[in-house]
Amino acid sequence: MTQQQTAQLERAAQIAARDALTAHKGTTHDGRAVWAVLNRSASAKAGYPVYHLVTVEAGQLVCDCYASQHGRICAHRAATRAAIEAALKASAKAATTASPALRWSRETAPLYRSNAPVGIFK
Ligand SMILES: [Zn+2]
Repeated sequence: MTQQQTAQLERAAQIAARDALTAHKGTTHDGRAVWAVLNRSASAKAGYPVYHLVTVEAGQLVCDCYASQHGRICAHRAATRAAIEAALKASAKAATTASPALRWSRETAPLYRSNAPVGIFK
């Protein structure tokens, strides 16, 4: 990420936080993730909620708004990035606080964990 992109992301994140933008996750008909982020100005003009859609293309978040179409990092992408980071943090926490039975089921077989010599004869 270039210095300019970092600055744009910081500004976009500030706008997203200021406007309390939240990304609502959904799934497309073919199983891809999509996030809907409220377009505050268009919603105010229209009198009903209008959303921008953020998708992942080639590992990058892509938004359908004007700013994003012109190569800028928009607040919608920043809000989506924050939502993804929060979800990842929550799933990591869930994995560490999972029930002992669940953790146990993920462990390898005892023989694969130990290098201790094992005899088959007593
Ligand atoms: Zn956008």
